[in-house]
Amino acid sequence: MHAFSIAFLAALALATAARLWLAARHLGHVRAHRSAVPAEFSGDVGLDAHQKAADYTCAKTGFAMIEVVVGAGVVLALTFGGGLQWLHDASAAWAADGILRGLLLIALVGLVTTLIDLPSDLYRTFVIEQRFGFNKTTPGLFFADLCKSLLLGALLLLPLAALIIWLIRELGEYWWVYAWAVTVAYGAFVQFIAPTVIAPLFNKFSPMEDPELKARVERLLERCGFKVKGLMKMDGSRRSSHGNAYFTGFGNSKRIVFFDTLLQQLNAAEVEAVLAHELGHFKLRHILKRMVLTSALSLGFFWVLGFLMRQEWFFSSLGVASPSPAMALILFMFVLPPFTFLLQPLGAMLSRKHEFEADQYAMQNASARDLVSALVKLYRDNASTLTPDPLHSAFYDSHPPAIVRIARLQKA
Ligand SMILES: [Zn+2]
Repeated sequence: MHAFSIAFLAALALATAARLWLAARHLGHVRAHRSAVPAEFSGDVGLDAHQKAADYTCAKTGFAMIEVVVGAGVVLALTFGGGLQWLHDASAAWAADGILRGLLLIALVGLVTTLIDLPSDLYRTFVIEQRFGFNKTTPGLFFADLCKSLLLGALLLLPLAALIIWLIRELGEYWWVYAWAVTVAYGAFVQFIAPTVIAPLFNKFSPMEDPELKARVERLLERCGFKVKGLMKMDGSRRSSHGNAYFTGFGNSKRIVFFDTLLQQLNAAEVEAVLAHELGHFKLRHILKRMVLTSALSLGFFWVLGFLMRQEWFFSSLGVASPSPAMALILFMFVLPPFTFLLQPLGAMLSRKHEFEADQYAMQNASARDLVSALVKLYRDNASTLTPDPLHSAFYDSHPPAIVRIARLQKA
């Protein structure tokens, strides 16, 4: 067995074991705190809502554990089990060696992995979300979304893949610098068109119309010295009763989006506080900082890929006998996650730091008390647990635990 096979198997085993261990801790912690609402929330969250959140969290976490094991099995079947080699042979039967064959292989792998994920997506939507009363998606809408996503994925990713394969074939050793630059520019382009071109394929967006709310929001925007054309309402209730708000796009395409479900849950003052938080993310350049960081990281990944691609053992040690640029890209996608597993808590930590900063901004420009009551409502109505396992939360959560976040807001 090649040393790289052993290294990959070890990383996969460790990452899988760590994920299962964190999930088991989370399950235990949530179950242990199921019988009582934390004192900080006892006035606002009833025992029923607290227990529903605990059961919902346990259902999702238990299922995620199965998915972790299945996911590791799929990666093993595709590599050592010969799945990728088989897909290569299929694509080679259809197209001669070249960019077209590479694209065919990438499309086949994308299709196969989507089909493998399909049963768990169905289960999550129509069993777990349904059981807890959050699902609003019909089977028809679900499959329409699936077809749209597949088409969109092909339309967005295949041209980029074609360009990268071309660069690999034409530019020799330093292709990865060019491929990185192209990928970063393309990513920025997709982010730019996402709010106006991609998101409307899945949802309807309309300007926020409630006059009282609009007046409040306009005063807030003026206070913050902020010009935003797109203050939009999205029909999130078509698919789910979970509420949310987010900031998207940049330059002329930037907009703030509120789910209609969120606008139903919160009063005008609470919406204003949530909006102030979102404005904070923008004013403090969190989106830009994230993009710069991911771009820098991906330069490192492209450099590693440039090196691996020239090694015959990179392919043979992962069960592939037919090296090609497209195969190298695919193998890299499957092999990378277990090795970068430990980057996840660092990313989550940065995200939580940004959340605290945006809360700070919201406190200065709107009311901390309204933000607290908005957050409590959102935790309660989304059945988000108030008692996550601290280690699980530190590892994965993009937002600070409710108790920590609200304590900071109340101290102000
Ligand atoms: Zn935020």
